Amino acid sequence: MKSTNVANVSPDNALYVEQRELRRLQRGQVDSPNHSTLKAAAAFTKVGKGRLGYVGDVNGEIPTTAVVIAMCFHTSSRPPVAPGTGVPDQTTRNLSSPADDQKPSILIISFQELSDRDHYAQLYRAIRQHASVTQVWDRRATLRALSLSSPSFSGVLVTDGAIAEPEHSELASRLAECTRAGTRVVLGVDVGCFISPSNMPALFSKWGLRWDRGDYGRTNLTLNPAGLPSPLREAALFPSVSAKALHVKNVRREHAVYVPGPDGWGSGADESPAVFARVGNGYLGYVGDVNGEQQLIRLLIEMLGITIKPGDMGPRMVTESVSYSGGVQTDRRVAVEEEIPLPPQRRARAAEVQTRAAHRARMRQQKKARADRLKEEGNMSFRDQNWLQAAEKYKAAALITGPDPLYLSNLAAALLKLKLWEAADSAASCALLQDPGNVKALYRRAVARKELSRFKAAEEDLMRLLLLDRSNLSARSELDVVRRMKHTERNFDWPGDEDLSDVLSPLYDGPIALEEESDSEDYQHAGNGTPCKSYNHHGCSKGKGCRFRHAPDWKSVRDNLGRNVCIYWLLGTCRYGDERCIYAHDDTYLPKAGWWTNTRRLDRLRQQFSDAVEKSPRHGLTEHILAESLKPMDWRKDVWAFQDYAEAAEIQRQFEELDETDSFVIAQTMADDLRYVANIGGLTAVASYAAEQESQDEEVEYVGYMEEVEPW
Ligand SMILES: [Zn+2]
Ligand SMILES: [Zn+2]
Repeated sequence: MKSTNVANVSPDNALYVEQRELRRLQRGQVDSPNHSTLKAAAAFTKVGKGRLGYVGDVNGEIPTTAVVIAMCFHTSSRPPVAPGTGVPDQTTRNLSSPADDQKPSILIISFQELSDRDHYAQLYRAIRQHASVTQVWDRRATLRALSLSSPSFSGVLVTDGAIAEPEHSELASRLAECTRAGTRVVLGVDVGCFISPSNMPALFSKWGLRWDRGDYGRTNLTLNPAGLPSPLREAALFPSVSAKALHVKNVRREHAVYVPGPDGWGSGADESPAVFARVGNGYLGYVGDVNGEQQLIRLLIEMLGITIKPGDMGPRMVTESVSYSGGVQTDRRVAVEEEIPLPPQRRARAAEVQTRAAHRARMRQQKKARADRLKEEGNMSFRDQNWLQAAEKYKAAALITGPDPLYLSNLAAALLKLKLWEAADSAASCALLQDPGNVKALYRRAVARKELSRFKAAEEDLMRLLLLDRSNLSARSELDVVRRMKHTERNFDWPGDEDLSDVLSPLYDGPIALEEESDSEDYQHAGNGTPCKSYNHHGCSKGKGCRFRHAPDWKSVRDNLGRNVCIYWLLGTCRYGDERCIYAHDDTYLPKAGWWTNTRRLDRLRQQFSDAVEKSPRHGLTEHILAESLKPMDWRKDVWAFQDYAEAAEIQRQFEELDETDSFVIAQTMADDLRYVANIGGLTAVASYAAEQESQDEEVEYVGYMEEVEPW
């Protein structure tokens, strides 16, 4: 190639050299005996964490284009090579060594070596084994190590509190800069012992944090039940530890790694002895432990981004007792303390998840095939105007697969023909919960509600329908009818019918998911109603014989292993740690997203709660957000699901033949065991009638929040 070469290139950095340069090198004709350099047409060298490349080619040869590309994408194990050309192996090796790049480089800053080195032997042993370590002892060396021209460190461990002294302010600022650029800066070891509390706010403010001196003392700690600050891994840490430490306060919940446990000392809800926060592209960690607990040494290692294996920390020597006589140490007993192993990991259950998923998929397919056949038969009956048979076929289909909006919308049509208005309303509502934009279901529910004299609700449905389908003529004329009747007839609106407008609002946040019904023994096992802690944690061996509940409930979400995961934990409000909570605190086998990750929806639920409290203020009301999904234990209580259509249609027929007085008695009988399910703004409201002749109390129970509503 024709090129402008560069001289003084070390052979390690030369990519292309002239043949005669090579021969010169082989013959030992070098510039100086201990500093052999070459003239190279292309060179590549490591500078800090980055690379500098030079290609002197002036004609854009294809082979040199490949070299330029290889330089740009140097992290790939081997650069692309143009056909018929070869980048020498040696240069490939020079380009990058991934193993080296992945090994963390750690800077340890210790101005005063205070701690008993033996005591922290495990920390230094583990770090040195898995990282390349630079240690500095004074300010100048530290500034040099952190200067812009030096290679940057993936982690910096500061082992004493001197960093907080005003004289080191410049240094602390530089550390904060490094953090923002991507370094993990961790304050630990002797920091908790020797930091001046009054210097703490100024120190942490360099990272934009409001952390300040908190309580000091021994306390039982548990991992933050609201979840660990990312990217710390729960599996690398102990779930709990007792430690004497200097806490920091003004800690945001998501920055706490350990918090005082339920039985622990410590008052402030915003205090923690071990915190970790993302700052810019990096992280700042603080561990206030003063005794070097092994569990917290592991945390320091994890904060620095170092992964260790069992045994890497090894044993350490600890002083058991020291005796003095006349101020002179007479006896010192030391003991070997072995590495405390991490508690056994939850076994990886990926295979089990796969088997279960495959089984579920198979069952789903079989059920769908059976249900679709029934739906087809239902369609045939409908065409023959055999409404009762059609309704029963659609219902049977929906009972097999769960309430599929298509089956239910068809069912609602057949039920309207049978004049079973409540059942038609409930079928259409169930379809709309999952498919709020289902125009047919909206229309059918509107008709049912009109017949039930719920004109306000019927009007809402039709307006919603017309928003989706402006040209729907049947909806338009129905809306006229409903609006006329609203003024001329007696209204029997439900409480909450007037609140339906939120489905019209742009804030409406979508459908409710259907929980898949499982045919497993555990899914059906209700036990004594109290959730089985073993089942939700490591597995329950008692199966059907267990006293406790394995079935899903409202305070948990079912994961792919069938375990019930704590909603309070998912929402960050569980007061029990993993050890004590009866539900699982582990989202490994949950879908990545669900209603519990939908912040908009959660905000809306919370807003609804405060609105309800505001409307009827009462003491001691606590917000409880319950599982928001359509569960079989819920929809199986819908009118459409349990009603005997033939019987109900017969009563309806008699009802129409009777005069006003008689019809009232029959209506009461029907209401006796009638549970009515309605959709109110995405929540399910279950109303039960207490239909004794003398008392006509009605209760409304909001699933999601418990609230009494004025009799209406
Ligand atoms: Zn059990
Ligand atoms: Zn919990």
